[in-house]
Amino acid sequence: MGCAPSIHVSQSGVIYCRDSDESNSPHQTTTISQGTAATLHGLFIKTDAAETIPSVITYQSRHSRNNSHRDRKENSGGHICIEAETQTSHTSVKVSATEECVGPMRLTQEPIQVLLVFAKEDSQSDAFWWACDRAGFRCNIARTPESAVECFLDKHHEIIVIDGRHSRYFEPETVCRLIRATKPSENTVILAVVPQKPPDQDEPSVLPLLCAGFSRRFVENSSVSACYNELIQIEHGEVRCQFKLRACHAIFTALEQCQEAVEITSEDHVIQYVNPAFERMMGYHKGELIGKELTELPKSDRNRADLLDTINTCIKKGKEWQGIYYARKKSGESMQQHVKITPVTGQGGKIRHFVAIKRPHIDNNNQVNQTMCNSLHHRDRRKDSIDARSLSSRGSDAPSLQNRRYSSVARIHSMTIEAPITKVINIINAAQESSPVTVAEALDRVLEILRTTELYSPQLASKEDDPHTNDLVGGLMSDGLRRLSGNEYVFCKNMSQSQLAIPITLNDVPPSIAEMLNDEECWEFNILELEAATHKRPLTYLGLKIFTSFGVCDFLNCSEATLRSWLQLMEASYHSSNSYHNSTHAADVLHATAYFLRKERVKNNLDQLDEVAALIAATVHDVDHPGRTNSFLCNAGSELAILYNDTAVLESHHAALAFQLTVRDSKSNIFKNIDRNQFRTLRQAIIDMVLATEMTRHFEHVSKFVNSINKPMASVNSDCEGQANNRNSPENRLLIKRMLIKCADVANPCRPLELCIEWAGRISEEYFAQTDEEKRQGLPVVMPVFDRNTCSVPKSQISFIDYFITDMFDAWDAFASLPGLVEHLSENYKYWKRLDEMKCKSLRPPPPS
Ligand code: AMP
Ligand code: ZN
Repeated sequence: MGCAPSIHVSQSGVIYCRDSDESNSPHQTTTISQGTAATLHGLFIKTDAAETIPSVITYQSRHSRNNSHRDRKENSGGHICIEAETQTSHTSVKVSATEECVGPMRLTQEPIQVLLVFAKEDSQSDAFWWACDRAGFRCNIARTPESAVECFLDKHHEIIVIDGRHSRYFEPETVCRLIRATKPSENTVILAVVPQKPPDQDEPSVLPLLCAGFSRRFVENSSVSACYNELIQIEHGEVRCQFKLRACHAIFTALEQCQEAVEITSEDHVIQYVNPAFERMMGYHKGELIGKELTELPKSDRNRADLLDTINTCIKKGKEWQGIYYARKKSGESMQQHVKITPVTGQGGKIRHFVAIKRPHIDNNNQVNQTMCNSLHHRDRRKDSIDARSLSSRGSDAPSLQNRRYSSVARIHSMTIEAPITKVINIINAAQESSPVTVAEALDRVLEILRTTELYSPQLASKEDDPHTNDLVGGLMSDGLRRLSGNEYVFCKNMSQSQLAIPITLNDVPPSIAEMLNDEECWEFNILELEAATHKRPLTYLGLKIFTSFGVCDFLNCSEATLRSWLQLMEASYHSSNSYHNSTHAADVLHATAYFLRKERVKNNLDQLDEVAALIAATVHDVDHPGRTNSFLCNAGSELAILYNDTAVLESHHAALAFQLTVRDSKSNIFKNIDRNQFRTLRQAIIDMVLATEMTRHFEHVSKFVNSINKPMASVNSDCEGQANNRNSPENRLLIKRMLIKCADVANPCRPLELCIEWAGRISEEYFAQTDEEKRQGLPVVMPVFDRNTCSVPKSQISFIDYFITDMFDAWDAFASLPGLVEHLSENYKYWKRLDEMKCKSLRPPPPS
């Protein structure tokens, strides 16, 4: 009877050979040892008994007669194992590989491997050895705990038999724990061989063994048949189960990797599993969900009332349910999902689990393209001041521009300034889902009215505790209901005429200015340099350049001379004494307007009349600004406030005065050659845009833009980025133009840092001057934080950006794609934050001492 040589070189450098043609014993006949087992494994071997005993003996069951098959394996640890298959005379020959099915999955099971951990050979280890042989299992014998682990990690035996009869060599529990500490042992059956109990003693508890990680106990019995029976029972029972369980790793790997959100619940709807796609989609961590009942999670109130009942009735009958469902994400946001729920039946045909597969639902009516934002996590800069670019995106390999766009869209959907009307629109949208066509059509008309009528009323109450924000909001968004009578604001109505006296000739634009203007199409264009070079007349020069490039004279059918004259007139009507609201601000807004008009999507949505209207509106939008806010004028009971009934006082004045001045003198009347209808249309568009710069309606304009432009745009498949160009209904064009001028008007926080700082200084100075005057005249102080002795400019800028800028530019960026602006905004915001953290109240950090 023969067995081919089996050589094992252990990591510890001990080489063991075993000759094959030994008799009925697996005993090694040759041992080449480079050290003693006792010294190598002294930690475990309690005596020196194993001095010449090999650490591992490999036995290959002998099934293919006259084999000479050699299998040499080398692992990374320098562990060489040469196994040989020989033939056995035993009759209980087993086929080497068997097939098993786990559900629809078919698996092939290789011959079972058994590891015997016996410090010393004896009749018991021999019996297992020959039992393996009979069963057709491969077998190794390890002499020490260390070599047992080493061998196990190499071969991943299905069954391990640990000799637990004497603790002289090693503690069986220790060996078992050592093996259980390795990952592959998860699916291994470990058998403890225990001594016969003395007849007078009670049966010892199996619990300590189970606790140590053993699966079973075998009372010593050196009959080969007893060992064989034990092994094949284990094989048919637990090994097969473990083998099938091992296949679950593949199934879970698939679940963990798949793009669709998967949720598995028990029959009573306790969450048992969610995959990473589910976590991403819903914004929860699995730890927050597993073990929870579905009913404990917040629900969206946007589902049809009877929807849950319908679903439950269906799946409780064991039927699959599929449909559209609104889920509430952790952020509170409702999300429309396509859901498929499949009941899974187990023993006795009972439902044991429900498997729900979910993916974001996209439909053309819905405002949200959930695919675009399903894996986005929105964090509000307001709360934790993060860089807009760090908002996570769908895939790391997605282009950064797209990532940024996705994050903008995500932010839009989680904007905190959701007006009630937005909620109403969302509810109606949801109701449309399940309504008959006639009702859905009626609801369409309702939506149309709601979207285009002045019903928007942002919720501003007690939004912020910060006094800077409160003052800014109060100062910029109120009409001055705290008006005191009798404090007349002296409005300098002749200013424009007096300034007109300054002769301006523009026939020859100095080369230095012309060169400067070459950079005009760039966002980083330095308007302050132009202001200096033109002696505070940047609007005229820049206006000429920009109006010409947009073909305004051709459109209006007016000469360049008329345009020049008009630009000079408008520029002269700005107060150069204002630190902020002077003609440089108008030129800055004109520059931003032109920049936006050149953006692809803006261009595609507007026609030339819109463009001309926008450029004119930008030029005139603050004309004759007194450097005081509406609230001030109302409080002071100024002539203008009285004229415009405390409502949009300044904006009404800017628009009215611009037309008065323009048409008063043919020399500067740019409208003189266009027909009445065209004039009316143009005039209407200009007035609407100038009035849109009024801050009391800031949130209304932003909300309408988000609801009517961003959201429908987001629901158009993200693959066809440029396709949403045909959304140029007059109503939508109006919203785009309003948003355009609003963003242009307050784009200074999105300019390069130096410009941003200068504008912040200028607006602060103007506010300080107003506070000074309010105090002087005994008027209510509209924005007390803007006291030049105490104000923190960084704090005021942080509040302004948080409250007015971030959301608006996110929405505008999502539409027009303005990565540069968003980048500057983020950098500038960090700058103000840094100053604020340093407790610095001024525009710049103190010079290093
Ligand atoms: P307008 O008066 O048309 O320029 O409207 C814009 C409003 O935003 C004005 O009330 C400005 O005072 C205000 N504003 C613009 N930029 C800033 C800024 N950087 N900080 C604070 N308020 C600003
Ligand atoms: Zn302005």
